[in-house]
Formats: sequence, C-alpha cells, structure tokens
Amino acid sequence: MNIIRQWRTLHIIKHHPLPYFLWREVTKGLPLVQCRSIKERARLRLLSTLFLHKKTFTGAGGLTISNEMAITIASQACIPILHLGLNSYDGWVEIILYPGAFEVKRNITDENGIVHRQTSGLSGESWQRGPVIFSWQDIKRDSDHVMKGHQVVIHEFAHKLDMLSGRANGMPPLHPDMSLNDWSITLNEAWHHLKDNLIAHRPTYLNSYAATNPAEFFAVLSEFFFTAPDSLKSHRPKLYAQLAAYYRQQPSTPKNID
Ligand SMILES: [Zn+2]
Repeated sequence: MNIIRQWRTLHIIKHHPLPYFLWREVTKGLPLVQCRSIKERARLRLLSTLFLHKKTFTGAGGLTISNEMAITIASQACIPILHLGLNSYDGWVEIILYPGAFEVKRNITDENGIVHRQTSGLSGESWQRGPVIFSWQDIKRDSDHVMKGHQVVIHEFAHKLDMLSGRANGMPPLHPDMSLNDWSITLNEAWHHLKDNLIAHRPTYLNSYAATNPAEFFAVLSEFFFTAPDSLKSHRPKLYAQLAAYYRQQPSTPKNID
C-alpha cells in the first residue's frame, strides 16, 4: 500500500469510524456476521467503515438508502475479503439498490441463430468495472435468515473477485501458494459432475444455477462456502479446500440455517 493511501486509510479509521451503536444495531440481526469471532467482527467493522467511504450507494426505483441497507450490504460484502483486503474491490465504486427484483432486457440468440428479446427479474447483478446492482428485498431475505447456499450479497461480490482476472470465468487471481492446476481440475470436475447429475435427473448437492457456466459455479460455490461451510467440507472436501485456500479463511457455520 502506498504512503498516501495508507495515511487516508488510517485517517478514516481514526476520525470517521462507523459508530459502534449503529454497527451493533444492524449486524446483531445478521447471522453471517454474528457467527464470527470477536476479533473477526472487529475486523469486519473496520473493513465496512472503509467500504462505506470508498463506495457510493444509489437508490433506484424510488428507494431511499438507509443506514440499515448500507451496513447490511457493507458488512456482508466484506466477509469474503476478510483476509484478502479491501483492495480486492478496487476498480469500481457504485452499488445500485432497487426495492425489489429489477427487470433486465437482453437479446438471447437461440440454437437456430434467432435473436429473442428476453426480459427477466433479477435479485443481483455485477458489471465488469461497473456497479453491483441488488434488490433490497432479496438481500433482506438472505441476510435475516441464512439458507444453505443462498446469499445474494456473497454471490455478487464473488463475481467481483472473479472479474479481477479479466472477465468472470470462475478463476479469480489465485495466491502464489495455490496451484492453478489443482484449482482448475477440482472446480472443472465438480462442475461437469453437477451438469451430468442434472441431465440424468439425479439429486445434486449444489444449486442447479451453478451449472450455468464456470463463473456462476464459483459464485454459487462461494455462497455455500460462507453459508454452510461445515456441510461443504464434509460433502465436497476438495472444493472446500480450494475455497478455503483462496479466501484464506475457514468460516464458521451460522446458527439456525435452513
Ligand atoms: Zn451470478
């Protein structure tokens, strides 16, 4: 970190920390934050303070951003980077929040080359070097009560980490002590295994959305890693090991998960 940046960071932490009562009020209802140790929660508050200074929040569809909304997003967005650092979220600044699912219109080309205009309702979306867009309704649902493998904030920010290596392709920049080969083989095998099971109508451990492409596989896998780490570790130990090495942490399982 260069000197100016380091000074600014220290200045923000010292003079503009997130007030503790506000932090406590919002995060006491977030199982993903509460399952962390005291030390980790202190680090999360610090990272969230810096996150809130660096990022801008824009309400869309008539939504006014409240402290609850900003802290709910910041505190959970900082869980994946707890041991990676806030620089992992460099290169973009804006978070756009809609009250509910937002409509996206896209052109889809089918197997016959015919282009269809498709409209879909989304709960979250990450743009390369651009904003992260969310539905507050979906964030609230996933944040108040942890469902195994479902956490829209973790999902979209996992895409942001993935995009650090260029376009999202399920391969974020790995650490020097990690093997590119081990990562590719482990995630590829698991992705093909999931697709085979879905085609054969066999039950699958991971949510079927993970089969969409390698980028979605990494994002859904990250949701599992942070919402149900013990389950992932016992059912898919190799996948768990790769994610623990990448995120540089071994999360605890939140209480009362579905
Ligand atoms: Zn996604």
